[in-house]
Amino acid sequence: MRLKIGFWSVGIAVVLIVLVLSLTVSSCGKKRYAFISGTTHMMGTEVNITIYPYDEEADSQYFYNRTLEAIEDVADIAAAFRQESELYALNQSAGADGGYTVSYTLMDILVKSREAYELTGGAFDPTVAPLVFAYGFNYHPTTGEESKPHSLTDEELEKLLPLVGFDKILLDEEGGVVFLPSGMNIDLGAIAKGYAADLACDGIYYSVKGVMVDIGGDISIRGRKPSGDPWLVAIADPRDPEKTLAELALTGGCGVATSGDYESYFEVDDERYSHIIDPRTGLPARWVISTTVIAPTATLADALTTAVFVLGVSEGIALIDQLADTEVIIYTEEGGELIAHYSVGAEELLVADEEK
Ligand code: ADP
Ligand code: MG
Repeated sequence: MRLKIGFWSVGIAVVLIVLVLSLTVSSCGKKRYAFISGTTHMMGTEVNITIYPYDEEADSQYFYNRTLEAIEDVADIAAAFRQESELYALNQSAGADGGYTVSYTLMDILVKSREAYELTGGAFDPTVAPLVFAYGFNYHPTTGEESKPHSLTDEELEKLLPLVGFDKILLDEEGGVVFLPSGMNIDLGAIAKGYAADLACDGIYYSVKGVMVDIGGDISIRGRKPSGDPWLVAIADPRDPEKTLAELALTGGCGVATSGDYESYFEVDDERYSHIIDPRTGLPARWVISTTVIAPTATLADALTTAVFVLGVSEGIALIDQLADTEVIIYTEEGGELIAHYSVGAEELLVADEEK
């Protein structure tokens, strides 16, 4: 999903460009602080990274490269449709007697996925993969072909629904082995970007003052800006992603993620069906048009934003209100108008119009 980030993204070109500002005093007397910032394309989306080092002498480029490496590592592991990926190999192993031995990172993503599955009562469930492929929302798992999203018949749904359910997977954490039942598939598209953003930040956080990594709107923030200003994250208008609907002012140690129905969808009788599937029914979720979750980590925010999309306004807000340090903003469309719905503390995070 596309979120514009604060003011740093303004003017950054699409190709990787790295800017370094040194510690100077600007003409209006406001101190400016050293930072390194860049934009690139990874995990099928735009990646924005901003790092505030402790001082000007720090080797910011080194820290910047470390964040890119962490994202690349997760991309290599968790892209279901990449034939070289570890997840692809795991999916191919479905039904194997001895299970499949996975890396520490893949096991960690799967364990966090299981936590999110349990926390959301199954609304977040990466085993919807066979349905996602059948609807044509993702690349084909074996041929890599792209297909056009379309609806499924009741017979197709009946055949595929028994293959859904994360509780059918056995994770042997100590042995590092995953037992995936025959016919099942895992799609980590709803959590991998958040996980990669956290991994990228956590890998350098103790060596820098503050870092923000944004992978297509799944954002991890650690530490502070040297100026003491909050980190700003804009929520894009789902019907006109170039426009900003609201802006969040956040302190470090959090994650933000957005799911919207505007990137991948199909339409039947003028109704829009999104790429997020309700694992209970096998049908595309269609109650809301965009959800933004703020949580302690980007991994959790990413998983929760998908779950809230499935659960809809009242169940979604009820879930988030139970969780500490977690908020949600949901947009629905009624009579052509966008309506915002907030969890209990969400409005406090918004930048008021007069402060902009
Ligand atoms: P995006 O990747 O567009 O930011 P999400 O984080 O919501 O959005 O992830 C959506 C992707 O997750 C879908 O493209 C699909 O691959 C997968 N998915 C769809 N429905 C679910 C679900 N209920 N639980 C987990 N993953 C899902
Ligand atoms: Mg998600």
